[in-house]
Amino acid sequence: MNPKPKKYFGQHFLIDTHIVARIVQAIAPKAGEVIVEIGPGPGALTAPLLLKHAHLHVVEIDRDLAAALVRRYPPEQLTVHETDVLEFDFSQINAGAKFRAVGNLPYNISTPFLFHLASFSTQLTDAIFMLQKEVVDRMVAGPDDDAYGRLSVMLQYQFSLEALFDVPPDAFSPPPKVMSAIVRLQPLGTDRPRAKSDSHFAQVVATAFGQRRKMLRNTLKGIISEAGLEALGIAPTARAETLSVAEFIAIADATSK
Ligand code: SAM
Repeated sequence: MNPKPKKYFGQHFLIDTHIVARIVQAIAPKAGEVIVEIGPGPGALTAPLLLKHAHLHVVEIDRDLAAALVRRYPPEQLTVHETDVLEFDFSQINAGAKFRAVGNLPYNISTPFLFHLASFSTQLTDAIFMLQKEVVDRMVAGPDDDAYGRLSVMLQYQFSLEALFDVPPDAFSPPPKVMSAIVRLQPLGTDRPRAKSDSHFAQVVATAFGQRRKMLRNTLKGIISEAGLEALGIAPTARAETLSVAEFIAIADATSK
């Protein structure tokens, strides 16, 4: 029997064993990998992963669920980090070893969590997450897609992203109000196109998408002139939602101090 779900921790527990099997198959753990599961809850993914993998790290904020996992599995099999994953220092795991991140994420913190994880991307091998389908659509969207925005650009700057499959609400108890989807993130290599300043790039992207339907000559007025945009081959009348990641890098590099 699962414990009573706590809404404020975004608890929707997986109950569809077929979906669980498909997620575990997508993760395909291999011997020797360091795997961190975010939000294990009562263990719908943890248990089948441990049948295929000798040891897992889990990060769980709910003290009751974390304690139940400590009682259920010996430390040689499961290391339980009872904490808020937004404050979790992934670099402390196995002294900075490469790791894989997996989990059925609490949807209320999914965007801040993705930005937090991105700050450890040099250590990350890949990640496979369940998220709201609407968020996955935004993550993988390209220029001119309705879902394309700041999240798409900031993640595609660092990761290759692939939506794997959708999961309906009835796969969970209690069922969420929205469709869910599985997504894979893989850090791009060190030879990826990169702005001279990551923070200035982030600022340009945030400013441009602050008013996504307005023309760049207006939204980016304080950052780059119309002539500056033209010199980069970008129409001053274009909108943020039409620019590629490479074009955002070009604007950032032309204007960073
Ligand atoms: N993995 C389980 C499953 O699939 O049935 C539970 C998934 S449930 C959607 C999300 C889990 O993340 C819950 O166990 C919840 O307590 C935990 N959680 C919520 N906020 C968290 C946070 N800030 N840090 C770590 N865990 C969190």
